[in-house]
Amino acid sequence: SIPLGYFGGIGLASRNGILFKGSNFLDVMTGINVVIMDKTGTLTKGVFKVQDVVAVGIDKTELVNHAAALEKSSTHPIARAVVDHAGKELELKAEGVEEISGHGLVGKVDGKTVHAGNAKLLKKYDISYPEEINNLIDTVVVLAIDGNYAGYITIADEIKDDAKEAIDQMHKLNIQTVMLSGDKQAVVDKVAKTLGIDKAYGDLLPEGKVEKVQALKDSGSRIAFVGDGVNDAPVVALADAGIAMGGLGSDATIETADIVIQNDQPSKIIAAIRVGKITKQVVW
Ligand code: ADP
Ligand code: MG
Repeated sequence: SIPLGYFGGIGLASRNGILFKGSNFLDVMTGINVVIMDKTGTLTKGVFKVQDVVAVGIDKTELVNHAAALEKSSTHPIARAVVDHAGKELELKAEGVEEISGHGLVGKVDGKTVHAGNAKLLKKYDISYPEEINNLIDTVVVLAIDGNYAGYITIADEIKDDAKEAIDQMHKLNIQTVMLSGDKQAVVDKVAKTLGIDKAYGDLLPEGKVEKVQALKDSGSRIAFVGDGVNDAPVVALADAGIAMGGLGSDATIETADIVIQNDQPSKIIAAIRVGKITKQVVW
């Protein structure tokens, strides 16, 4: 039978907006020594805004409109920023849009082939682009029209208010912090430095995130993974404690998770560990 204290623990957690899908995960949380977090939507707000447009051989507004026509068919947070920036007058329509996971989009706009995504996308299609794009410390949407580099749009996201406090608390509990992201390494490094995160890996495809988590698991670490995105479900499943952030979370991630944090606050990760510890004191 389940000791009474576990019911208390699950109740205490749920009153704090943390849903444990089984009492065993209260215990698991007390033994975690590495917390791995997704960047976008987990440590940052996941609400991007366009900062700057650089157009090459095309008018700036035209470039944004071509990008937005493609991005209209994507639900990625990057897509929303580009579409919002184009505004209401957007008349261009895209056809045959294909979304390539971890890369971006390709499709036809006004009879021309348009690529909108990261440097990896252009590389995949053998389209050359200026190398300095990799050094920009904002997220970028690189664009090509009919196979020629046509410029880029920089977009930025904000770090959540309680992210630094959550990371500091993890370190106080002797927990190592790791961040994984599909975004550029330069952006990932900036966020990691601001938050004091121990290790940060960018430019990862969904399978690259799985490999990183598996490697840490193989080294004997007890891992909590916290994510919000569509691509996070496999890593959530792999972690000792898979945690979904509910606010922007996708259904697949929430379904796979062992623990669901209903709001968007990283400090709830600490709260989940605390509830586990309190429960353990009551049970034993
Ligand atoms: P993450 O959520 O960690 O950023 P994703 O796999 O969702 O990981 O995306 C990885 C990268 O792929 C993004 O940072 C972006 O550079 C590019 N990308 C994905 N979808 C789009 C899109 N719709 N438009 C432009 N770029 C995209
Ligand atoms: Mg994502």
